[in-house]
Order: sequence, then C-alpha cells, then structure tokens
Amino acid sequence: MAEQIRVVVVGAKGRMGRETVKAIINDEALAFVGAVDRTLDGVPVSQVLGLDAGEVQFSTDLEKTLLETQADVMVDFTTPAVMKGNIDKAIALGVRPVVGTTGMTPEEIAAWDAACKERGIGGLIAPNFAIGAILMMRFAAEAAKFLPHVEIIEMHHDQKLDAPSGTAIKTLELIAQEREKMGQGHPNEHETIAGSRGGDYEGMRVHSVRLPGYVAHQQVIFGGLGQTLTIRHDSINRESFMPGVVLSCKEVMKYEGMVYGLENLLF
Ligand code: NAP
Repeated sequence: MAEQIRVVVVGAKGRMGRETVKAIINDEALAFVGAVDRTLDGVPVSQVLGLDAGEVQFSTDLEKTLLETQADVMVDFTTPAVMKGNIDKAIALGVRPVVGTTGMTPEEIAAWDAACKERGIGGLIAPNFAIGAILMMRFAAEAAKFLPHVEIIEMHHDQKLDAPSGTAIKTLELIAQEREKMGQGHPNEHETIAGSRGGDYEGMRVHSVRLPGYVAHQQVIFGGLGQTLTIRHDSINRESFMPGVVLSCKEVMKYEGMVYGLENLLF
C-alpha cells in the first residue's frame, strides 16, 4: 500500500473538526496523526470524541504538533481570528494547509499562494467543501449571463461568526466575472430599518439569516421579465462536506501554490 498522507486537524473538537477526524480515520489513504485544540492538552482524542483515534492526543501547540507528527497536511476548521496564523505556521513548516474556515481577504490568499510556491507545497482554501454547493455556484454564474438581476439569501446556524458566508462571497465573485457591475432595485429606494436591503457587492444584494436549526444553506435568486429562477443548496448535515475535505487532503499533495475554491480541483 502507498504511504498514507499524515493529517493534523486544527479545531478538532469543533463541529466540523470532529466530522473531519472521523472522515480521515475512515479513509485508508489518510492517517490521522494530530489534533490541535484551544484548551485541551494531553487528553486522548478517542476519549473526547468517542472515535477510534488510536494514541492521538489533543495539543494546544500547533507548531510542535506539526513537527512531531511529521505532518503532510493541516486541516483547519477554527475561527477567522486564529486561522490566519495557523496557515502562516503550516506553510513555514512545509505543511500543506487545507482550510475550511472562512473570512480571509483576496490579498491574504495571494500572499499565501506566493508563500506556498516559495516552499514548493500546495494549499487549498475552500469556502464550501460540499459538491452540491460547488454546482450551485457554477450554475449561478451561468444563469447570471442571461439573468443579471440577482440576490443571495444564505442561512446558517446562529453560532456562525462571519457574515456573509464564504460561500456567498465566492458565489458573488463568480457571478461578478460573468456580469457587468450594475445597480438593482429602484434608484430611490430607502431603508426604513437599516440593513433591510442586505449587503451590496457590485450592486448584488446578499442577506444573511442566522437561526438555530440551520446547518448551511443558500438560495441564489434571479429575476427577469415575468419570471424568477431560484438555485438552492442545502447542507443537511456536516457529512456533506467530508468527501470534499478528504479529496482535498489527497489532491493538495500534487501541486504547488494556494488554490481558492474546491471547484478548481474538480472541474
Ligand atoms: P466550531 O464548532 O465553533 O469549531 C471551531 C473549533 O475551533 C472549536 O472547537 C474551537 O474551540 C476551536 N478553536 C478556536 N480557537 C482555536 C485555536 N487557537 N486553536 C485550536 N482550536 C481552536 O465551528 P464550526 O462550525 O466547526 O466551523 C469552523 C469554521 O469552519 C467556521 O469558520 C465555519 O464558517 C467554517 N465552515 C466551513 C465549511 C466549508 O465547507 N468550508 C463548512 C462548515 C463550516 P473552542 O470552542 O474551545 O473555542
């Protein structure tokens, strides 16, 4: 059997992190070798997550974990505030970052791309690892060529920190490549309650709903003469992201530079 790809999960105790640990354990080509947490140190992962994680223990020290485990890949599902430092540390140690945490700027992505190339390693930032969401974005970009009036409503659980979602931003960016920047709605419209019309990205409006009960959902709504078109994706549970995460851990071994968007590995 080919040598397994050694993966460390940062934020391993979180909702996405624990699902990722499970997916890595269940994939023969991957080895789960390390787990980093904000507070847990020296505690067996198996005990906390109820998974068969062998001898792996949580650590609060990312650099030490990456070095000691001789990691090939670091998967990050933490928070926008800590993810950036984690990516810097991984690249500096020659460990390939696979990042699902959202909330970075295009300038930061460009800098990481240069750093990865300098180190001769690959990296991946995916605002959404679910194949259905990737297809939603692709179809939305196609529809915008014919129906340029578009608004996005994204719905997430109420513990999400950033708004709009990384998926919404990526969708807006992809649509913007296909559509001229233009104003939408009435030129004299005004908001009686501030924010009612949502965020504005090149004239497109984006609305973020945060409620218990949701996982990750998005509707892209196009309006035309006498018709509307709605493209909707629902992640019903966090397993939906795992085939994309596992694929990324494998593909990231094969190229150099920081790739932004799972679609670049799929199509
Ligand atoms: P979560 O349940 O809050 O998990 C985040 C975890 O990171 C927590 O266990 C947290 O620990 C831990 N953490 C915080 N600071 C840390 C540090 N310095 N070092 C190590 N661990 C640290 O959040 P989630 O729902 O899993 O989401 C995580 C991120 O993934 C969010 O940005 C979310 O938007 C994104 N996401 C992406 C996708 C995708 O497909 N790309 C899908 C879903 C979610 P404490 O709780 O102790 O602070």
